[in-house]
Amino acid sequence: MKGTPMALPGYAFFDGKIVPYSEAKVGILTHGLNYGTAVFGGIRGYWNDDEGELFVFRPVDHYRRFLQSASLLRMSFPYSPEELVEGTIALCQTEEFKTDCYIRPLAFYADEIIGVRLHNLTPRLAIVSLPFGRYVENEQNAHCTISSWRRVDDNSIPARGKIAGAYVNSALAKSDAQLSGFDEAIVLSEDGHVSEGSAENIFLIRNGVAITPPVSDNILEGITRRTIMLLLKDELGIDVVERQVDRTELFLADEVFFSGTGVQLSAVTKIDHRLIGSGAMGPVVKQLREIYFNVVRGRVVKYRHWCMPVYHRGGNGTSLGHLESAGTARNKG
Ligand code: PMP
Repeated sequence: MKGTPMALPGYAFFDGKIVPYSEAKVGILTHGLNYGTAVFGGIRGYWNDDEGELFVFRPVDHYRRFLQSASLLRMSFPYSPEELVEGTIALCQTEEFKTDCYIRPLAFYADEIIGVRLHNLTPRLAIVSLPFGRYVENEQNAHCTISSWRRVDDNSIPARGKIAGAYVNSALAKSDAQLSGFDEAIVLSEDGHVSEGSAENIFLIRNGVAITPPVSDNILEGITRRTIMLLLKDELGIDVVERQVDRTELFLADEVFFSGTGVQLSAVTKIDHRLIGSGAMGPVVKQLREIYFNVVRGRVVKYRHWCMPVYHRGGNGTSLGHLESAGTARNKG
């Protein structure tokens, strides 16, 4: 079960400039590779055929969280979120994508040394992008299991940071679920409350109200989660409550769904062989998916400000010049 290999990117934004992907290399002893001392992000670009435009979805918010994750690991970079967006736009332009794509920023400790720590190390930053469709096979009626693995705790490895090493926790949950025949894992926090999926936030609809675990239950503070909370309220008039969720509330929910850059909006229709609601994708997630896919492709004027155009740059004041010409590493801060 190796999966289809993805095509490699053509280029990388590495240390402040765009280089061929084959030149963006690190050594085996690299700290981030050995100790998981790295943070990453995941951003989607959506191709809009009518406009001949690629829209990157909420990139400033993603880079804000990315730099916050880096700061949890004591990394600092001389980039603002906006500058990283500029680098990303330049990268996507260089790749000349005319299709949906995925953007992966990575910040890692680059020192080739032995020694576990977070101080006196050199962080480096890379961004790559590649064509990308679905992250999960099944967005419409996923069968999930409650994982026997518990979500990493804020006092162990902060889950609100997108910290590379912490994704071993997600990988353990995901593989055990899939190798047992499920589509995805739902992970509980150490105290037994619902936290999230292996790489996605979770919502339930019960009696007309949307409920999602609070940020203090060891979730990643998802950009899609934030988007969905707003769309639920403003577009569907559904109240959203952030509160602790018990496992059995999921079983009794009318609808359960995941949100995340990768999964987008995926309906969970069965959990541990129990049907959720009718056992088919429910009306709320169905409507939300319709709205969401229009929003991310830049088709809803009201939310167009979340969609950063890659090709037609006029009028929004963004200049790419200084990053492209930076030429030298700018990551020694
Ligand atoms: N939780 C985890 C553990 C994740 O890895 C992700 C994906 N980044 C999410 C939630 C969803 O976050 P976002 O909506 O920002 O992609």
